[in-house]
Amino acid sequence: MGSTDVADRPALASNPKYIFFTDFDGTITLQDTNDYMTDHIGFGAELRKKGNADVLHGHRTFRDSFKEMMDSIRTTSFEDCIALLKANIKLDSHFQAFFDWADKANVPIVILSGGMEPVIRGLLSNWLGEEAVRRRLQIVSNNVEAREPGVKDLYKDAGGWQLVYHDDSPFGHDKSIEIRKYSRNSADGSVTPANERPVIFYAGDGVSDLSAARETDLMFAKAGKDLVQYCKRENVPFTEFDDFGDISRVVEDIVDGRTTLESVLSKGA
Ligand SMILES: [Mg+2]
Repeated sequence: MGSTDVADRPALASNPKYIFFTDFDGTITLQDTNDYMTDHIGFGAELRKKGNADVLHGHRTFRDSFKEMMDSIRTTSFEDCIALLKANIKLDSHFQAFFDWADKANVPIVILSGGMEPVIRGLLSNWLGEEAVRRRLQIVSNNVEAREPGVKDLYKDAGGWQLVYHDDSPFGHDKSIEIRKYSRNSADGSVTPANERPVIFYAGDGVSDLSAARETDLMFAKAGKDLVQYCKRENVPFTEFDDFGDISRVVEDIVDGRTTLESVLSKGA
């Protein structure tokens, strides 16, 4: 595969110098859509928190625990799930400005999510406009399918949908897979020298983002969330953020040449 092959790497289409990868739930949004659904129309917060703790302590895989949470939602149509989320989940108030700046600055945004594609696309289209989302964002995530062959419409039938994973990893969606397409040689897996590929930014907040952490040039981790603890424990350098205003300042300063990646990395969190 040559470096001009964009079929498998759409973010290279505009020949960018920088690519911004980001988690969705709790990073671009203020709340986690999957937590919200589990707590309100699934088996509830108590079992969800127990499931998360089991994953954190290594008793279960994220893959099994998260599937169980989504499977606990049995009577709500997928359409109603999206409507519930549209009414209750909020976008980071600084994201729209970052989204607009990134488009002008030729910094493609790629969302890497453990959530379900129609939820992510539905919410982002609601906030940013359907056409802008289709044209300016790539979404790589888990998805949904009909729960059983008898389901007529997976969006409208009550409980007619189920989560389907992106890959076979214990994460369900191993976020490093997509990033490696840009950071490594596809033939032998060796790391591509920094001056022969785009600079890779990543923003996240949780456990699922750890699979991405080692593949990035600059990692933004949300203050007070699990990812900060993980980065500290695993010695992954990171820059803390509270919202996309913080991220914008750093990324724009680097892209516009007011500071360097090395200088930001040396300051750390
Ligand atoms: Mg998250």
